Amino acid sequence: MRQKLTGGCLCKSIRYEVDEVFDSGYCHCSMCRKLSGAPVLVWGVVKAPYFRLVKGTPTEYASSENGIRGFCPTCGSQLFYRNKVSDDIEINLGTLDNPELVEPKVHVFTDNQLSWFQLSDSLPRYQDNVIPDPEYRSGNSQ
Ligand SMILES: [Zn+2]
Ligand SMILES: [Zn+2]
Repeated sequence: MRQKLTGGCLCKSIRYEVDEVFDSGYCHCSMCRKLSGAPVLVWGVVKAPYFRLVKGTPTEYASSENGIRGFCPTCGSQLFYRNKVSDDIEINLGTLDNPELVEPKVHVFTDNQLSWFQLSDSLPRYQDNVIPDPEYRSGNSQ
């Protein structure tokens, strides 16, 4: 999946570049739901060296002990989650200029999935976010 991807917020005051998305999926957790205002948040993990902010400064909000959420202070677009320990970034895939280039591969925190949000894909589903490396993942876990 190595390819340069670009993205940013709705008002274009914040822009970023990504060299490679390591993993991607849907998060059904209640925090992502509240943050995004949507039934799921679609994330893509980017290792720290492969992520660059190229324009603007996101406002950061510490949503948990190790997690920081970055958003645009002008338009409010939710851009990413940053892990304070690993420095890895989880971009919100919907903020890519072309989200078609990265397909979600997994569902996490399905214990919190909303009953009226129905899925018809056959991607692996996990009750929490303890998931194997993409290389070692196969089929449905449940
Ligand atoms: Zn903006
Ligand atoms: Zn989540």
